[in-house]
Amino acid sequence: MSDEQRQTRHRRAMEQLKAHVDERVAGADEERGQLLIFTGNGKGKTTAAWGTVTRALGYGYRVGVLQFIKGEWECGERARLEADDNLEVAIMATGFTWDTRNRDSDRAACQQVWQEAARMLADPNCYLVVLDEITYMLKFGYLEMAAVRQALENRPREQSVIVTGRNAHRELLAMADTITEMQETRHAFNNGLKARRGLDY
Ligand code: ATP
Ligand code: MG
Repeated sequence: MSDEQRQTRHRRAMEQLKAHVDERVAGADEERGQLLIFTGNGKGKTTAAWGTVTRALGYGYRVGVLQFIKGEWECGERARLEADDNLEVAIMATGFTWDTRNRDSDRAACQQVWQEAARMLADPNCYLVVLDEITYMLKFGYLEMAAVRQALENRPREQSVIVTGRNAHRELLAMADTITEMQETRHAFNNGLKARRGLDY
């Protein structure tokens, strides 16, 4: 094939690709808030949520972040962004941990954060709400799926919500506009590497 033929072929392929992309862009014309779920066993769910929080704050939108686990743990993004008046963070007060055996106090702690979440999910000024690790609250039965569903369904039209956590409830998945499953190909932890400040939290 001559250089000229190669050029022509490339140009045609690019034209076809552009036509295809243009058609899809033209077809995606609905504008509203969205429900995104970052789930799966691989690393990156909470990081992706904070990345999107940063993105929204960058345009001056109001953002609410609810952390349903590891409340007392350090969190670099929270430390960096909490001075922004447009960010409101609610953390589980008593610090739910995997080793608590007291279901009653865990449930109460969860319900406290959920009340904040419900308020934000009803607030039309809230552009983005992150429900970090909420999947476990549903899994352990500290939160009712029906309550979460109702709050999500009735939220303001322009509000987007990000849910993170493994084992997302099938009803949540059914409601989502975008689902990203982080797939673990390898994780440093499994080779004995300790969670690292600024990388893992
Ligand atoms: P990150 O906060 O880094 O985005 P994540 O939200 O996807 O991670 P979680 O399940 O919430 O993951 O776990 C939180 C902590 O566990 C983080 O320190 C993360 O690095 C670590 N982690 C994530 N995935 C794995 C894994 N597959 N094996 C071991 N540790 C993991
Ligand atoms: Mg996480």
